[in-house]
Amino acid sequence: MNAATITDRHPGDVLLRRERFPHIWCPGCGLGNALRCYVEAMKVSDTPLDKHVVVSGIGCSGRVAGYVNIDSYHTTHGRPIPFATGLKLMKPELEVTVFSGDGDLITIGGNHFIHTARRNLDLNILFVNNFNYGMTGGQFGATTPYAARTTTTPYGNFEQAFNMPLLAAACGAPFVARWTTLHVRQLKEAIQRAFEVEGFAFVEIISPCPIGFGRKNRFADAMDEMTHFREGAVVDHDADLREVGITMRRGDPIVVGNFVDVERPSYDVGKRKLLQKVREGLP
Ligand code: SF4
Repeated sequence: MNAATITDRHPGDVLLRRERFPHIWCPGCGLGNALRCYVEAMKVSDTPLDKHVVVSGIGCSGRVAGYVNIDSYHTTHGRPIPFATGLKLMKPELEVTVFSGDGDLITIGGNHFIHTARRNLDLNILFVNNFNYGMTGGQFGATTPYAARTTTTPYGNFEQAFNMPLLAAACGAPFVARWTTLHVRQLKEAIQRAFEVEGFAFVEIISPCPIGFGRKNRFADAMDEMTHFREGAVVDHDADLREVGITMRRGDPIVVGNFVDVERPSYDVGKRKLLQKVREGLP
């Protein structure tokens, strides 16, 4: 390589706040890949970068709001969707993305999730699922698989986990996808599609958490978890969503794909139609 082409700049630097690095994530954590896919998708998005904003809550995924060089909001635990809702309603021209983990988005914030999907508010939800509360010590949450071990389920979890693509689709989300942090090209493309979709676009990102979840569940390290993703991943865009729950048991599949991509009037469209009707005095 010509010396003149060598640079200490990362291609994503324009969208990263370098002064905040090194990041706090553990070696082998999947959040770096998820962030990179988000940044890469923004770089090729039709929306100007100054119209992209990100909202995150609390947890390891919440750090993303501090690392990206766009307008970003680091909100309270479980509440990124309500915050993003206010932002989108007041500034509909913004491309609002919620970047959140399973403890934040669906365990603490579950009620916000189902109602915002039902309303079909035009948000992009990047949901990093690593099956536990990583930052606070590896406790179980609403996506921890049945029988999985965590610090608060040392004998195995006896609660059923949410199957998130099924839940999102049942709530009416017009775009529902799932990829792992190993599927970087497909994940980036799914995020690009989420930007385009008018309405609640949901992308589940299955991610290794070697420190919180992996070591409690017989994964030697992050590579071992990633190997499980590679060996277990089954791409099936037409999957029956009732069958795509994840066990994280070796030998069981992790079904991935762009499962739902349909047109459905967004909240904003419905609101504008109603206002027009009222102004015209129609019954
Ligand atoms: Fe990543 Fe888990 Fe470490 Fe958090 S605790 S940074 S999710 S590996």
